[in-house]
Amino acid sequence: MVQLSETLKQATGVLAARGEGVYLFDEDDRRYLDFTAGIGVTSTGHCHPRVVEAAQRQVATLIHGQYTTVMHRPLLDLVDRLGDVLPAGLDRMFFANSGSEAVEAALRLVRQATGRPNVVVFHGGFHGRTVGAASLTTSATKVRSGFSPLMGGVVVAPFPNLAHYGWSEEEATDFALRELDYVFQTVTLPQDTAAFLVEPVLGEGGYVPGNARFFAGLRERADRHGIHLVLDEVQTGWGRTGTFWGAEHFDVSPDVLITAKGLASGFPLSAIAAPAELMDKAWPGSQGGTYGANAVACAAALATLEVITDEGLVQNSAERGVELRRALEEVAGRHTAVTDVRGLGLMLGNEFRDGDGHPDGATAARAQQEAARRGLLLLTCGPWGEVVRFIPALVVSYEQVAEAAGIWADAVAAVS
Ligand code: PMP
Repeated sequence: MVQLSETLKQATGVLAARGEGVYLFDEDDRRYLDFTAGIGVTSTGHCHPRVVEAAQRQVATLIHGQYTTVMHRPLLDLVDRLGDVLPAGLDRMFFANSGSEAVEAALRLVRQATGRPNVVVFHGGFHGRTVGAASLTTSATKVRSGFSPLMGGVVVAPFPNLAHYGWSEEEATDFALRELDYVFQTVTLPQDTAAFLVEPVLGEGGYVPGNARFFAGLRERADRHGIHLVLDEVQTGWGRTGTFWGAEHFDVSPDVLITAKGLASGFPLSAIAAPAELMDKAWPGSQGGTYGANAVACAAALATLEVITDEGLVQNSAERGVELRRALEEVAGRHTAVTDVRGLGLMLGNEFRDGDGHPDGATAARAQQEAARRGLLLLTCGPWGEVVRFIPALVVSYEQVAEAAGIWADAVAAVS
């Protein structure tokens, strides 16, 4: 009998039959509050009528345009519309299907453009699972281990991770930037360094936000040394953190922006954006792919953007995020096992530690399972799986946040 690979572990055990907004329904029509959103993908909720309508219309018109063979209208319209939301100056785009592919496209671009071999990544960052993207990933060894040798030219520097050392933001940031200068003196010369690749908020690495001081330090060093600052906004983009891009929290301008997940409400689509003078340095034919910028995915992305704008979903993400954070803080205040609340907007997590202060993935997983039993779907993240994360669709309502908060409080009480 053919079966799915054992490496695919389901976090919830739910057999999803259909989705509607923030809810998933199993084959017995049991309803679940979905605070996973397909790992932060279904930004407009499951099967938003306007996304469904746009995709259905496109499916009946042209499914596969193949963008290196012909151009198609959904892609042209999407690129045109993205001009309204992309950071100023990022006026050239390339499209692929997944976050990992877009990360690798960015890597190819900065290496070709600079002729420099090395990329500095920041400890705890997740950038994907293809071998190139996994080589850039330091969020958990399970993503890297067993299929080495990984790609060379990757240098790891510290992220200002307050969770690990109990430092202030200033202390953690100054440490991270001093270590980066030390890396330039000891591991890779700045003139051998093509890019800094970094997430505004560590995602899979445990929902750890960066800060303005850190990103200003990166921006200054990038400008001084001709290094490109590449922001991986695969998880933080499209309103997830309560602003359209995560970078807005820290007032930092990237040279290359990577986006995926939330942009097409569940259709596979990813992209990178960069200024023309950088993007034009990509060697002809060095970027491409059979399926990139699929016409149906582009039509869905365009509809997603319209829904986000018309329904004020970035604002909703910020407002519901404040309520959800308050609920998670209450849980942390009541249970010693829950040691932190972190994240931004609707990208929030509760961290678990044991009595000795060690990250406690086992208790986090039990709480997550208890929540699933009670009808609330959640995921974990962090190197030890010690953070239970909350990433509902951006359409989530006040009442749904309150309902989820109640279930979560019961689930944590059950395991504490
Ligand atoms: N970068 C970040 C920040 C991500 O969160 C992810 C996915 N979790 C990826 C890259 C990889 O995206 P994909 O799984 O679509 O390849």
